[in-house]
This record gives sequence, C-alpha cells and structure tokens, in this order.
Amino acid sequence: MKNIKTIDDLIRCYKTLPGIGSKTAERLAYATLQLSKEERDDFISSFIKCNDEVKICDKCGFFYEGECPICNDPKREHSSVMIVSSSKDVLTIDNTEEYNGLYFILKGTISPLKNITAQDIGLDKLEKYITQNNCREIILALPTNIEGETTSLYITNMFKDSSLNISRLASGIPLGTNLEYIDNMTISRSIKDRIFIKGVKDE
Ligand SMILES: [Zn+2]
Repeated sequence: MKNIKTIDDLIRCYKTLPGIGSKTAERLAYATLQLSKEERDDFISSFIKCNDEVKICDKCGFFYEGECPICNDPKREHSSVMIVSSSKDVLTIDNTEEYNGLYFILKGTISPLKNITAQDIGLDKLEKYITQNNCREIILALPTNIEGETTSLYITNMFKDSSLNISRLASGIPLGTNLEYIDNMTISRSIKDRIFIKGVKDE
C-alpha cells in the first residue's frame, strides 16, 4: 500500500525534534490524527500562537513573549553569565533561586558527528553579549555528555586569553543527565560549589 504523503509530511516534521526517531515520529503523527477535532484545533491554535507570539531574544537566546525577562530584568547581576543549551534549563536553574545572573542560551551543543558547528548553536554572539554586559565570569552549565563537553571546551578556548573567570557546575550531576531531571537541591549545590577552570571566584 502506498504511503499517504500528507501523513508522511507530518512524520517528517516530528522527526526534526530532538530525541525523536522515525518510529516515535510515526507514533506521534498517528496519535495526533486520532485526537478529537477539538483537541486537534486546540493543538493547532496553540502551535500557531507560539509561532506568532513567542520570540527568541537576539541577545541572550531566551524565548519570551512581550519583552525578554533576562535582558530586561534590572535586578539581575551582570557580573556573571551562565551558559546553557536550552531555554528550559534557565527555568530549572532560576527556580532554585541560587543564581541571579545573566544567561546565554545556546541552540543545543556542538556536534562534529552531526555537522553542528559553533555558529549553528549561536556561539558567535557570545563574545558581544559578554562585552556589552561587562561580565566577569562565565559559568558553564552544559550537558555532561560528549557534545556538552566539546562545547564547554570550545568556549573555554574562546576566552583563554581574556581576563574572564570560567567555571563549571560542580559534580553531583550524573554523566549524561539533563538538568531538567535533577532536583533543586543538587543544582543549588552544584552552582555554589562550581569548579573554576580558569581564574578564581570573584568575591
Ligand atoms: Zn534576552
């Protein structure tokens, strides 16, 4: 039997999402089609609303509606910038209330295997962001997998001749785990006990 082209298109769209392979994309596409008419309309209107109204800040990379809550928050300390690989991590870390600095959100991590370069994930904008905000410390909060480590190393090299202090979240976060699955206490501790790769803590 011939495949239905419109359904194949939907499957292809689902497959572009991270962590979704062919089988899951297929399951999601058919599950979407099996929703009731109301559920599907709700799905579509939420998607269109997000597409129209949610913007990505061209300075820090955070998703926002209205104005960027990171760049436009006068209470945030500009001395440090935490680098994460997804906007979701900002919410996770901010909820711990252990950190009140700036964030720089990358679009994922560098992956030579998947041909994803530093520029693809927005790293070319980092230097300008740091200069404009007069940051003194970079805190690396990237995933503890090979791609995350590659990206951390790349950033460390980018600033090796600068006066910036560079730290990374302390251990306690198991290898290969995403921040979203870690409890607040562990994240708070890993921020407080962060390890300096370059320079020292600015007291
Ligand atoms: Zn911003």
